[in-house]
Amino acid sequence: MNEISVVGAGLAGCEVAWQLARFNLDVNLYEMKPKNFSKAHKSENFAELVCSNSFKSTKEGSAPLMLKKEMQLLNSLTLEVAEKEKVDAGDALAVDRERFSKELTKRILANEKINVIRKEIKEIPDGLVIFATGPLTSESLTKCILKKIGKEELYFFDAIAPIVYGNSINYEKAFFASRNDISSKDYLNCPMNKEEYLNFYENLINAKTANLHSFDKPKVFQGCMPIEIMAKRGQDTMRFGPLKPVGIVNPKTNEKYYSIVQLRKENLESSFFNIVGFQTNLTYSEQKRVFRLIPALENAEFLRYGTMHKNIFINSPSVLEKDLSLKEDGRIFFAGQITGVEGYLESAACGIAVGKILGERLKNNKEFKFPETSLIGSLMRYITNEENASNFQPMNANFGILPSLDEPIKGKKERHIKLSKRGVLDLEEALK
Ligand SMILES: Cc1cc2nc3c(=O)[nH]c(=O)nc-3n(C[C@H](O)[C@H](O)[C@H](O)COP(=O)(O)OP(=O)(O)OC[C@H]3O[C@@H](n4cnc5c(N)ncnc54)[C@H](O)[C@@H]3O)c2cc1C
Repeated sequence: MNEISVVGAGLAGCEVAWQLARFNLDVNLYEMKPKNFSKAHKSENFAELVCSNSFKSTKEGSAPLMLKKEMQLLNSLTLEVAEKEKVDAGDALAVDRERFSKELTKRILANEKINVIRKEIKEIPDGLVIFATGPLTSESLTKCILKKIGKEELYFFDAIAPIVYGNSINYEKAFFASRNDISSKDYLNCPMNKEEYLNFYENLINAKTANLHSFDKPKVFQGCMPIEIMAKRGQDTMRFGPLKPVGIVNPKTNEKYYSIVQLRKENLESSFFNIVGFQTNLTYSEQKRVFRLIPALENAEFLRYGTMHKNIFINSPSVLEKDLSLKEDGRIFFAGQITGVEGYLESAACGIAVGKILGERLKNNKEFKFPETSLIGSLMRYITNEENASNFQPMNANFGILPSLDEPIKGKKERHIKLSKRGVLDLEEALK
């Protein structure tokens, strides 16, 4: 049998390799780190989470939970390790990012079917190839892929939120609680009164941003909008978004606030915190100045500042088949964010899908199809639907991409629960 090369040991690449190994297939997994790093990657471990440490909601009737259930049915390595390395985060699955990547790397390295090769791939390898090199694919490989598919690249900008040291937070001015749960210790809340908020807002909208080279008006992904761009949409926009105070009460004083910035634990020891929703393109010195206007962060020290990056993706609807192989050359597949799925979970799920399809084909001579009612099936349909080619934009897991129910249900929550049950059951059936 032809050699199988998976390029990129991110979330998608590790899942592809893991799935193929489950089919007892030998895989070469190429990763350019630690020899070369993209501008956002810092760790030499695999499946690095470059921004938030969250795998999103675990709420019943949410799209991220539906996707997680489907991934679990397919033995997702990402979720198995995430469960082991999770930190408290209320209705979300969040992990200690260091431990998560370390453990996942350990499992990949221990797998006898996966041969890890630390090398930057610059040309298309022989045999069967799966490119899972992500939104920050190295420059030479990007050029090589674009030449192969004969298309212009597509891109958008994505931003990273800062992380602060726990011991630099003023705990006199912050308190633990979750939305609608006064006893929870999952989020550290940094409240502001109206005057403090307005001062913060004014400084934020006038703060200096970092240069994004030739792009004056960068296209940003709505789900990861820089806080300063959000603020410029209106004085109260942030108070309806990441700075929403609704449902958060100070357990010590029973006080409610005009706005609240939430910090999420980065690790079990609570020595680092991520500022939720504060992805930004402000210069480092401006981040320090402006974010320190939040009273509890007045002396905050930054472990990592926020940054903004150009994310590339291919025009999957025009170049990929339904199984995510290249129309031009059926031995080449794509998986993960480079295909135009958006998000950690979605990228991992896309890797699982490619691994499953290929594994069934190579080992069992079977063409596996994901049910259209499943989120994985719908994401794949979306990114390969030719009708989406002319205005293709990255897509995350959401109920809007699923086929509607036979019998319409009015209530949104009930409808979503029903859609989830239908999709997960259909996938379960397809896997029998
Ligand atoms: C700045 C930024 C912030 C983001 N924030 C979030 C977030 O908060 N939440 C969220 O859900 N999603 C976020 N995303 C989106 C997306 O979910 C992640 O990028 C996700 O990691 C994509 O997974 P992937 O496996 O496709 O790619 P990656 O995780 O990027 O993995 C690709 C791997 O390929 C390697 N590689 C690249 N080129 C080569 C080569 N030529 N040879 C060998 N190896 C190579 C890289 O080193 C990397 O390890 C963010 C993306 C970016 C860029």
